[in-house]
Amino acid sequence: MKKFDVAIAGGGLIGGAIALELARAGLHVGVFDRQEPGQEASWAGAGILSPAPENPGMIPAVPLCKASLGLYPEFVALVEEMSSQESGFRPKGTLEPLFSRNAREELSTLIAVHHGFGLRAEALRAEDARKLEPALSEEMGAAILRPDEASVDNRALTRAVLEAARRSGAEIFPGCRVEAVCREEGQDSRCTGLTLKNERVEARWTVIAAGCFSSEIQGVERYAPVRPAKGQMIALRADDLKIERVLWSEKVYLVPRNDGRILAGATIEYAGFDKKTTAGSIEKILSAAIELAPAIAGARIEEMWAGLRPDSPDHLPILGPADADGLLIATGHFRSGILLAPITAKLIREWITEQRVSVDWERFSPLRFREQTTRRTTA
Ligand SMILES: Cc1cc2nc3c(=O)[nH]c(=O)nc-3n(C[C@H](O)[C@H](O)[C@H](O)COP(=O)(O)OP(=O)(O)OC[C@H]3O[C@@H](n4cnc5c(N)ncnc54)[C@H](O)[C@@H]3O)c2cc1C
Repeated sequence: MKKFDVAIAGGGLIGGAIALELARAGLHVGVFDRQEPGQEASWAGAGILSPAPENPGMIPAVPLCKASLGLYPEFVALVEEMSSQESGFRPKGTLEPLFSRNAREELSTLIAVHHGFGLRAEALRAEDARKLEPALSEEMGAAILRPDEASVDNRALTRAVLEAARRSGAEIFPGCRVEAVCREEGQDSRCTGLTLKNERVEARWTVIAAGCFSSEIQGVERYAPVRPAKGQMIALRADDLKIERVLWSEKVYLVPRNDGRILAGATIEYAGFDKKTTAGSIEKILSAAIELAPAIAGARIEEMWAGLRPDSPDHLPILGPADADGLLIATGHFRSGILLAPITAKLIREWITEQRVSVDWERFSPLRFREQTTRRTTA
């Protein structure tokens, strides 16, 4: 039987960042992944680091997202130094062009909304926006510049985080599917570790970070009733097309990488665990991308893929202690898991080493679904 201070189920960016943070705090950490770590949502994402809420449902997460964005420069510097690998961090801002007939009026409302959330946002006339990003369509009426936002190459970052965690002493076990959490029932229910196929792992603390698959682990569904939200993406390259910042329209985003690739995405589909790319969705992404930056029409398609975001019933992250001593949940990051990795790791470390945390988290507690799941199982 393996024995650790902390056993983590899932080696995506979330599990990897938690492992790094805890190993650096001097804890003996084991990460168990059912396949090669870092090959699911953390590989498939676009890597946009934006705390701006895309819809009213995301508003409660804005302070958490802002706090995580604030940690990013230090986080990537540490990870790059410890892993000797690049993360493709680009702190160059996001530009959101507006195409409606009332773009100028819409602009002042949107700027006020951003300022209301404490997010820096600047109003740009179309001609000024095009000076910054000449690839943008002539149809644009105005634009919003969010200068504090950034992007990161999430594939590179996830690889680097896992390497940094390893170099800090965390042990990573690929090909180890976690089947259940072990609970000792009694007066005080306690979690004592994880069950793998043919082995038990004993740990003082157990962290569930298995993305959209977390609810498949026996004993976890009631805290993390997550489901996969499929997103399809395309990587393009055009030698004569230069995009500096993340470009974000209502229908599509374009994310430039340091290697010259431009990512276009993404759909949101509830199609179970299916990860195939489909003609209809790819067509939608491409036509919206061409509308946003017409020169995309001549770009080469280098890659197409789909990934599964971990979505929760209220689309908010699921973070914190469960009602069994020693069991912590870190999933449900939905569209913001790359952004939220540093703050998630910090919170889990604070719960484990200090038993208190420095930011408001109650809204994200894993206990908020207990009633719903009990109702579902008794209905
Ligand atoms: C198309 C797309 C675009 C996105 N764009 C962005 C973006 O721009 N910005 C942003 O912030 N976020 C974005 N996201 C969301 C972000 O990618 C996710 O929220 C984040 O990667 C979740 O990380 P994770 O580590 O929780 O999950 P994952 O990366 O899915 O990792 C979970 C890990 O758990 C392992 N696992 C599963 N089941 C078990 C088990 N039973 N036992 C052991 N291991 C198990 C898996 O093999 C996997 O390695 C995007 C996602 C997609 C799909």
